[in-house]
Amino acid sequence: MFTTVSSHACRHGQGKLLLRLLVLKNARLCNSNSSIGKGIRSYATEHAHHEARIENIRNIGIIAHVDAGKTTTTERMLYHSGRTRHIGNVDHGNTTTDFLPMERERGITIQSAAVTFQWPPKSVLPNGQESKTINLIDTPGHQDFRYEVDRCLPILDGAVCIMDGVKGVETHTERVWQSAHLSNIPRLLYVNKLDRDGASFKRAVQEAAARLKTWPLLCQIPWWQKDEFVGVIDVIHEVGLRFSKNSGAMTVVPKETLATHNPALKNEMEKARLQLIDKLSDQDEGIMEEYLERDINVSSGTIKKAIRRLIIDGEAKFTPVFAGSSLTNIGVQPLLEAVVDYLPNPSERPELRLITGSKTVTFSEFMETAPKKKGAPHQKPEPVLSVSHVFKVVDSGARGLMSWVRTYHGSLSRSSHMWNSNMNVFEKPQNIMHVSAKDYHDIPTLPTGHIGAMTGLKQARTGDTLLTFPGHQAQAPEAYRSVRIKAPETPPAVAFISIEPYTKTAGDKIVDALQRLSREDPSIRWHKDERSEQLILSGMGLLHLEIAQDRLLTHYKIEKETAIWGDIEVEYSECLFAPTRPHHHEYDRALRGVAGRAACTVLLEPLEACHHDTLLESSIERDGNVIHVSIPLPEDTDELPFDTETVRQQLFNGAIAGLSRGPRRSAPVRKCHVHITFDPEKDWSKNSTGGHITNAALFAVRAALKEAHENAQVGILEPFTNFTIHCPEEASHAIQHDISSARGGQVMEVRKPEEDDYSGSVDGQGGERIDLTRVYVPPDPYEGVQSLRDEGKKMSGSVRMLHIMGKAPLKEMMKYDGHLRSMTGGRHTLTLDPGEFELVTGPREKALALEG
Ligand code: GDP
Ligand code: MG
Repeated sequence: MFTTVSSHACRHGQGKLLLRLLVLKNARLCNSNSSIGKGIRSYATEHAHHEARIENIRNIGIIAHVDAGKTTTTERMLYHSGRTRHIGNVDHGNTTTDFLPMERERGITIQSAAVTFQWPPKSVLPNGQESKTINLIDTPGHQDFRYEVDRCLPILDGAVCIMDGVKGVETHTERVWQSAHLSNIPRLLYVNKLDRDGASFKRAVQEAAARLKTWPLLCQIPWWQKDEFVGVIDVIHEVGLRFSKNSGAMTVVPKETLATHNPALKNEMEKARLQLIDKLSDQDEGIMEEYLERDINVSSGTIKKAIRRLIIDGEAKFTPVFAGSSLTNIGVQPLLEAVVDYLPNPSERPELRLITGSKTVTFSEFMETAPKKKGAPHQKPEPVLSVSHVFKVVDSGARGLMSWVRTYHGSLSRSSHMWNSNMNVFEKPQNIMHVSAKDYHDIPTLPTGHIGAMTGLKQARTGDTLLTFPGHQAQAPEAYRSVRIKAPETPPAVAFISIEPYTKTAGDKIVDALQRLSREDPSIRWHKDERSEQLILSGMGLLHLEIAQDRLLTHYKIEKETAIWGDIEVEYSECLFAPTRPHHHEYDRALRGVAGRAACTVLLEPLEACHHDTLLESSIERDGNVIHVSIPLPEDTDELPFDTETVRQQLFNGAIAGLSRGPRRSAPVRKCHVHITFDPEKDWSKNSTGGHITNAALFAVRAALKEAHENAQVGILEPFTNFTIHCPEEASHAIQHDISSARGGQVMEVRKPEEDDYSGSVDGQGGERIDLTRVYVPPDPYEGVQSLRDEGKKMSGSVRMLHIMGKAPLKEMMKYDGHLRSMTGGRHTLTLDPGEFELVTGPREKALALEG
């Protein structure tokens, strides 16, 4: 039915593009006929991976709320690139990236998985043209695994944020969007699941503008045939892209054919293109000139370049929007084109920032000002050969602990003698590997801008920085010893489970497994309760701890019968009501046979919002506390006989240890502002070890907390969660009543989804107002008959649904889903999103006291 390249399209300079689309259309065919082995094809990609030039690399992440279709989209990308021969399905538990048994059983992504593939597939490119190598990380979408997203995002150069076309912007979408924002990651938006009943591209785009606070640049609009979603309209190139639902084979439909068969759609395409050009020409001089010169026929190349320029800073003032349905194979190839076209390669990203002492500087600033060799101030700075970042540590079983690394400067090889500036040790990898889902392949080097894994690093943890220097020194050059890339913050734990081993042998085995588990996932923490001797494992929520427990039993082979496993409970914490007096502590006992003496003064006060804003350079924020250290210079000296950075770190460590057990319930102390003043004059002798300094801070903090408790100035905090309940109207009163009277929660808003109002404006990410009434979106297919449909629904007894939003204690909500089921007959969805720690008062405090 459809013809292909038309002379008309060629006249508009689009022949080349159409040719490329046609080539892609055939890509799937070529790949499925190829004879390379089953499953993931490795050789060609492995090779291409480490040989790829930096301009040809895209390190991207797929981010979204749980169930938006991240894993499904990743799976389709692998298939269409020719990387896999079979399309895996989340619902059948056979996708490439969800390969852990737990993920396959539950149908959810728990750990982020990396895959690499080429786009466009090499087999379809003309001679001499190179494919781009896409390193893609599929991330989990459940809020309990948000640390997993947070540690991967900073090492990526771009992200595709997926929205469910029915559900729109969900709570975790907003959160990961914000995380991407903090790392300035350029983003694309992909509205998925448009095949589903109730999908609305219009609403999804409006919500993106209103809630993600970005101006949507519609590069595609959906192609509906009556009510059925059949393809997408490429607004920039003015063609229709239609897909075969089974194979995903793509047919390019020229504008003229659209004009004949679907004139309304062709008109909408022209309108969308004009809207896009209009918006771009406000921002981009190149477009403006071409627009004025050539009227509406701005070339697709010019439009694409303008979009690229607008998003590359990662501020997300504007975001290109694409449409599709990954499950039914619609829109995946053009989305891959967009990744290649719009997202930056590693060399186009802002320069790496390094923390050196109490300052943050760019890599080149650092190299310019890097201290010269001692005694030779006019020499060039000592060179640094490579800088890389460990963003994840995984226990892979047979191969042992594997450290995932991204290189920023220089390259790493197996003989690299790497300085870990967080752990202050040199390490050497055994092997360097390229990772693709559960497969690993040895590679000789990891060049700049690449992502890989290493075995053999004994100490590296998530967030550590690795540096290499010329020669084989025994010690890192002084200037670089403590240079670091910012590590991701671990959010405070909100829930825990106790484990009580029956025997010492069982206890030792569990402790070993806990150590390894928390090294893999630093958002899992553990300690031994001094009084009960129980092992306490804490984490980000019910699901997180269930999965942790599962991993202990299945991966670390702990036998369940060797210990008593408690229920999952919420983690309380403690806080101060008023500032304490300054507490001075002098620690002068021998430590491991070494005599020494160190002293400091500590003052604690409740943390106010202003403390976050005025974080001084020598402050750190950890587990909800801000710790500030000052090291005064003694009179009559202008040089301190010790390394201030090391002492600062030791004092921080002491304070962190002191805050980890509060005086009321031995729960961690939060929302506390700690001032520590070191006392260097106090006989600080060379013999004093770091332990003396750490202990001086630890005991001073403990003494201050103890006194505050005696003065009744310590309160209990409990984690709250923000909830959204989507439920039938008839159940909503009972639910609201239950939450506010029996659960200690608060309902903030109840609304009908169809009452969403997009007539106002919002503050955009870039600081400008976004007037929602000016955001262009095409109408949904059933819009004209919406009211008829609604009537129909009512008559056929369809249920009216409501959203109830608010906050409540996590303790009450952790298992609320089951309770809701009895109130709604299962016709609800409950979404929880992390809230703040809030003070326990009144009856809840009394009940807690009774629990002990
Ligand atoms: P993730 O949590 O974001 O990784 O989402 P998944 O890829 O695991 O998908 C969640 C569910 O949505 C699965 O049941 C998928 O089959 C389904 N799904 C994903 N994409 C689509 C789509 O385009 N259309 C429809 N109807 N379902 C989809
Ligand atoms: Mg997933």
